[in-house]
Amino acid sequence: MSHTTGTDVIICGTGAAGLTLAIDLARRNVAFLLIDKAPQPFVGSRGKGIQPRSQEVFEDLGVIDRIVASGGEYPVQRIYTDDGPIDQVGVEMSEPTPEEPYQIPLLVPQFLTERRLRERLAELGHAPHYGHELVGFDQDADGVTARIATPDGEQAVRAAYLIGADGGSSFVRKTLGIGFPGKTLGVRAIVADVYVDGVSSDAWHRWGEDTAGQVSMCPLYGTDMFQLQAPVPFDVDLDLSAEGLTTFFRERTGRDDVVIRSVSWASAFEMNARLADTYRRGRVFLTGDAAHCHPPTGGQGLNTSVQDAYNLGWKLAAVLDGAPESLLETYEQERRPIAEAVLGLSERLLEAARNRDIHRGREVSQLDLGYPDSPLSLHTPQRDKGVLAGDRAPDAPVTGAGGLPTRLFSLFQGPHWTLLGHDVDDASAPAPRAGLHIHTIGSRGDIADTGDRVRSAYGLSAEQWVLIRPDGYLAAVVDTADLAGIETYLDTVGVRPLAATRPTTTESSTGMPTEPPSDSTGTPRTRREHRQARTAAEQRLTTAQRELHQLSRQVQRDLRSVRRHGETTAIVARSNFAELAVRSINRLTANLRTDRTDRTNQ
Ligand SMILES: Cc1cc2nc3c(=O)[nH]c(=O)nc-3n(C[C@H](O)[C@H](O)[C@H](O)COP(=O)(O)OP(=O)(O)OC[C@H]3O[C@@H](n4cnc5c(N)ncnc54)[C@H](O)[C@@H]3O)c2cc1C
Repeated sequence: MSHTTGTDVIICGTGAAGLTLAIDLARRNVAFLLIDKAPQPFVGSRGKGIQPRSQEVFEDLGVIDRIVASGGEYPVQRIYTDDGPIDQVGVEMSEPTPEEPYQIPLLVPQFLTERRLRERLAELGHAPHYGHELVGFDQDADGVTARIATPDGEQAVRAAYLIGADGGSSFVRKTLGIGFPGKTLGVRAIVADVYVDGVSSDAWHRWGEDTAGQVSMCPLYGTDMFQLQAPVPFDVDLDLSAEGLTTFFRERTGRDDVVIRSVSWASAFEMNARLADTYRRGRVFLTGDAAHCHPPTGGQGLNTSVQDAYNLGWKLAAVLDGAPESLLETYEQERRPIAEAVLGLSERLLEAARNRDIHRGREVSQLDLGYPDSPLSLHTPQRDKGVLAGDRAPDAPVTGAGGLPTRLFSLFQGPHWTLLGHDVDDASAPAPRAGLHIHTIGSRGDIADTGDRVRSAYGLSAEQWVLIRPDGYLAAVVDTADLAGIETYLDTVGVRPLAATRPTTTESSTGMPTEPPSDSTGTPRTRREHRQARTAAEQRLTTAQRELHQLSRQVQRDLRSVRRHGETTAIVARSNFAELAVRSINRLTANLRTDRTDRTNQ
């Protein structure tokens, strides 16, 4: 085995879950290794339904238009009966609204979705490593050491976290000994991507009255192929060649005008509904099908996998950047109940499909999923209308103060948190923090509420603020008077005041700008050096004032806490610190004054 190399995160599996996570980590500058045991990308169409909520995720990740252009909308369902074909609308579609810009499920073959995700990943400077199989791993308090079989031999890679995005028969889940209880649903099916003559591409064609005789052909938009699906008995050998599938199709439908010319990919699978007992053991997490598997009815599996990864990405990045470890516990707390509900939904839809009821409503869109019971949802007792903490943040058209139209989703796009003040005084906004974008809507705000859509979509009154998580869910809605609570909240999720963030290369370890040049005594010699020294001192003063502002807010919070709970230790320590900060500001101000006087006298 070669020597150990290191990274922050190892992602095992390059399906939709692994790729989504990789893109999210890449745009957050987290180091990772993305591996797959397959020699090349997956070529099958299986997870072809992209639901509206996943489309919103793909917009945030910068790939939605390419994915839309790769496929199409669901066609009408054409059901062949003894009395002739009947067209039915299978998927209930509403018109897009300003609040829900994506309402229509897309039909995109899985291999094309994954190709677009890989292209996005490449733009961010990363590529998956195919032919790299995870064959073992050990973890300790500080990290995980993974053993990876590569074409060049076995390698050991050390990382802070390992993510099992390795599909339904997950090696990671099995190695951890995590249970995967559930049931086999007593359905075996074939799915094949075929080139076929004799079928039109304007409809999803369905034949067969009873379950055992069903077979369907769905056009795979973005390609010239169709996806053939059919339930098959458990105890028969299947011939998945073009000839074998043509014969199978003729036997089921009696149609000899349909000929399957060639098969691009084919598989036979058993339907399961299973949920992992836990999504995490120590520094190893499960995501996507590794954590849950569903029957394909309702097109939920890939979508749930993408949204798992999207939930995990920002939390991993935040913890690697110093946020409390407990943030990672919310991944399972938020995502496992979602998977549980999705399992129930896809089983119900499977049962309906057995009875030829193929109608799907809003519940498959995943737009109404949220995290109201999450510890990350900060509920305020006085708020009982409009969107609440844990809900999906709606979109709305807005206009920038510069006069150009934009949308809330454009303001949210990227890895940051967003704080939106509605009809607020700009001066009440909290101090800026790295990783937080603050926008105010109002007469002196940077954003105008075009057509009053933000107020109505969110149910806001004047002097209210909405905190939106990086993954587009509401963290809290508070009044201006309660903004201190938002600042404490941000501290706990790793969005810290500037002085507390990691120093950048242009800052010293104290977070202050580096000193300008001076002689060995530290005294500036030339006018230019004087000017530089003064600029540096002014910057230090601004930083110190900002810190003092934050400290005074903290002290106010502490005072309230002392009144409520009688805690005194923290407040005493903080008051001492505040006093020191005040003295330091006074000293800096005096230095500046001296500097100004010196310059005037020169
Ligand atoms: C017939 C069918 C139709 C479906 N239709 C839909 C649909 O319409 N909509 C929908 O949302 N979902 C659908 N699904 C489900 C969807 O395909 C899956 O939910 C989705 O692929 C899960 O993505 P994933 O990234 O979690 O896992 P996968 O796509 O399974 O990817 C796992 C990857 O991990 C790799 N791997 C495994 N073990 C290792 C290892 N030890 N080392 C390295 N790599 C490893 C594998 O090679 C694989 O590439 C359908 C599924 C089927 C079978």
